[in-house]
Amino acid sequence: MELERLYVNGQWIETSKKAPTLDPSTGQAFGEVYVATEAEVDQALASATQAVQSWRWSSFRERRALLERVRAVLYDQRDALATLIAKEQGKPITEALAVEVIPSIDFLDYFIREGERVLKAQAVRAWQLLFRDKEGWIFYEPLGVVAVISPWNYPFSIPFLDIIAALFSGNTVVFKPSPVTPKVGLFIAHLFEMAEIPDGRLHVLVGGAQVGQSLVTDPRVRGVLFTGSVATGQRILELAAPALKTSLLELGGKDPAIVLEDADLDRAVPGIAWGALMNTGQTCASIERVYVHRARYLEFVERLTAFVDTLKVGDPREPETDLGPLTLDAQRNHVHRQVEAARAAGAQVVRGGTIPDRPGFFYPPTILLDVQQEWDLMQVETFGPVIPILPFDHEEEAIALANDSRYGLTASIWTRDRKRAWDLAQRLEAGTVTINDHVFSFGEPHAPWGGTKSSGLGRSHGKYHLLDLVELKYVSLDFQKRKTQFWWFPYDETYRSMLDLAFPAFFSRSIRARWLALLGFLRYFGRLRKSVSLWNLAKNLRRLLLG
Ligand code: NAD
Repeated sequence: MELERLYVNGQWIETSKKAPTLDPSTGQAFGEVYVATEAEVDQALASATQAVQSWRWSSFRERRALLERVRAVLYDQRDALATLIAKEQGKPITEALAVEVIPSIDFLDYFIREGERVLKAQAVRAWQLLFRDKEGWIFYEPLGVVAVISPWNYPFSIPFLDIIAALFSGNTVVFKPSPVTPKVGLFIAHLFEMAEIPDGRLHVLVGGAQVGQSLVTDPRVRGVLFTGSVATGQRILELAAPALKTSLLELGGKDPAIVLEDADLDRAVPGIAWGALMNTGQTCASIERVYVHRARYLEFVERLTAFVDTLKVGDPREPETDLGPLTLDAQRNHVHRQVEAARAAGAQVVRGGTIPDRPGFFYPPTILLDVQQEWDLMQVETFGPVIPILPFDHEEEAIALANDSRYGLTASIWTRDRKRAWDLAQRLEAGTVTINDHVFSFGEPHAPWGGTKSSGLGRSHGKYHLLDLVELKYVSLDFQKRKTQFWWFPYDETYRSMLDLAFPAFFSRSIRARWLALLGFLRYFGRLRKSVSLWNLAKNLRRLLLG
């Protein structure tokens, strides 16, 4: 399959514009893709709007069946997919299988097995006793057409999780992959096509900011699932604000790891190296700041540098490659500028820090010491294989340094002390805190994913993802023959006297006062009976009498 054309309304279409796609291992173009214009945006939205009229009423069985077919195709196509990810984005094939494909199958299974339980209409018993005559239900209704706008660092799993959550909750999707990784985006359409998705449910439009902007501002789009940088997230929120569209924002990070004096360095060293260097550091939740207790600082630095020396940087298609290239030349320049600025300001670069003389956008694992908390290196997202290390003397200081950031995506603590970890985890400003591991919970459907502060708005994954993609509707049913309710007109003297009794009867903490008020109601028996089921009140006598 060529993966050049856009996928709109079940068709692979060409447009008037084309753009090249690059292989970051060589820096050379390896193919082309068509780019969407306003005409294709309109065509996709028209089709998605029409399709949602039927898809929103589809049964859970039908939605499960679609995901089951996608699962079978993805399972079969996993090697082809991982190879394409390595080619276009640059992460090693092994890593693509582990961190892009496995979570995707797990999330499919989660929605297949648990999704209906989260989204099916739920009966709720009224809290207020006077409302207990009625039946109450919560319905979870799809938003409608949802735009999925994604970055290039996890070109498959990030949009894929958004798309399956959106489709399972009855929405239709227009997906815009990053223009840096369009072929992986189109591969998602290919998977769904092979899984025989009915036309109109999913569209894939290749394009940049302009296409994204057209989607966010179009009145037919009711929800935006955005993953990307803070600056673009803020812009998306502004664009979505006039129509008050549901907007889920998964943004950047500058995640800290704290190594306490009792840490098991046999685990902390390889764990932190993985958390910082996996995907060549291009993970929103990469470890980008390491704070180590001074008592273990030298030992940690020595062991980490020795460990990093064993890592293999190279062709992502080789099975033993640990780190591939960075995905973009511009990204490499940004990383290198930060390292150079730190070096110029006095940092010691003990590993890496130079652009290698080879084709492609490679950058070596880089370790910096003698860094300052206020430098860009410690405050601005690096998104590269760079590990700055700073010693601390007290736990309080470590927490203050970790929280001294505009971001709050994830954080990790490395210690042997469970109680201390439990206490400190609560004091870190982050959406996720992991003890003795990092970032793995992206692959866990039961773990909410998302950031505090500038790292985002809302939580995705598992049931939280589904709940972000629906409107809650409360439906109350009342088929009693009564002609009035206690709280309806007229507001006369009797009503006022009944209200004066209702306060102590329902809300007094004194049992005596409650009972006296309930007895007082006997005077209004006739009126009460007209508006409330006395049988229902009798059924709740215990709560009435005892509060
Ligand atoms: P980006 O913000 O440049 O682009 C993200 C997407 O938004 C792309 O598809 C882009 O074409 C589109 N876009 C750009 N301008 C737009 C506009 N004005 N209107 C609509 N769409 C627009 O981000 P990127 O460089 O592709 O990705 C890297 C960033 O993503 C990093 O900051 C990283 O931390 C973040 N990220 C966050 C998470 C998370 O889960 N929190 C996951 C992965 C990446």
